[in-house]
Amino acid sequence: MKRDFLYEGKAKRVYTSAQPGLLVVEYKDDATAFDGAKRGTIESKGIVNNRISALLFQYLEAEGVATHFERLIDERHMLVKQVEIVPVEVVVRNTVAGSLSQRLGLEEGTPLPGAVVEFYYKNDELHDPMVNEDHIRVLNLATPEELEVMKETALRVNRLLVPLFARAGIDIIDFKLEFGRYQGRIILADEISPDTCRLWDSNTGVKLDKDRFRRDLGGEPEAYQEVLRRLEGVI
Ligand code: UDP
Repeated sequence: MKRDFLYEGKAKRVYTSAQPGLLVVEYKDDATAFDGAKRGTIESKGIVNNRISALLFQYLEAEGVATHFERLIDERHMLVKQVEIVPVEVVVRNTVAGSLSQRLGLEEGTPLPGAVVEFYYKNDELHDPMVNEDHIRVLNLATPEELEVMKETALRVNRLLVPLFARAGIDIIDFKLEFGRYQGRIILADEISPDTCRLWDSNTGVKLDKDRFRRDLGGEPEAYQEVLRRLEGVI
């Protein structure tokens, strides 16, 4: 399936495929945190994240959310539509954690009265600064119409994922989405996995996501595997 290597990111490699307009994404076990300052590997992460992302993209597609997902190829590879990635990361938060806790001095775990949406400029040299809708407009990162679609889609994804994860006994605390331009439309791209979400066990509060790696908690492979096992039970 894989033809030419296109590029390598922190957690994935992208290749052309035999089919024009479709790319092969390979999920790696590499993990990075704190802007690349912390590096490591999480055993079998690529295999588990490939499966989790596929499950979630399929679930969202079935609910009418357009995504880049085409199909799983094998344990580490999926086939996706080739899109032009919009250089804006969209974060949705249901509960205070991570950078929001730091920035606003709020205690981690504090429920938010409604979902909070944030935008970050995908730019390594600038260390992905938070931006608002005016910054995005003046930098020409997305049109106001595109941004509106991204924001509304992110909130819709949140409304779908909160009850889905709840059935799996997991609170989805926050997550990050990326979008791409495809045939004049904006569709969901990148991945949705424990690398890009905060997922806490609903009963115990145990972290089942990349914070185990960021905070040296250990047990990353088991936590990621547990998320997959539980999602398979509800999707
Ligand atoms: N996130 C991500 N990639 C990034 C930054 C954040 O996937 O480059 C996810 C992160 O896993 C969490 C959410 O977005 O689920 C919010 O992250 P936050 O802003 O709290 O940043 P952090 O403190 O994790 O760096």
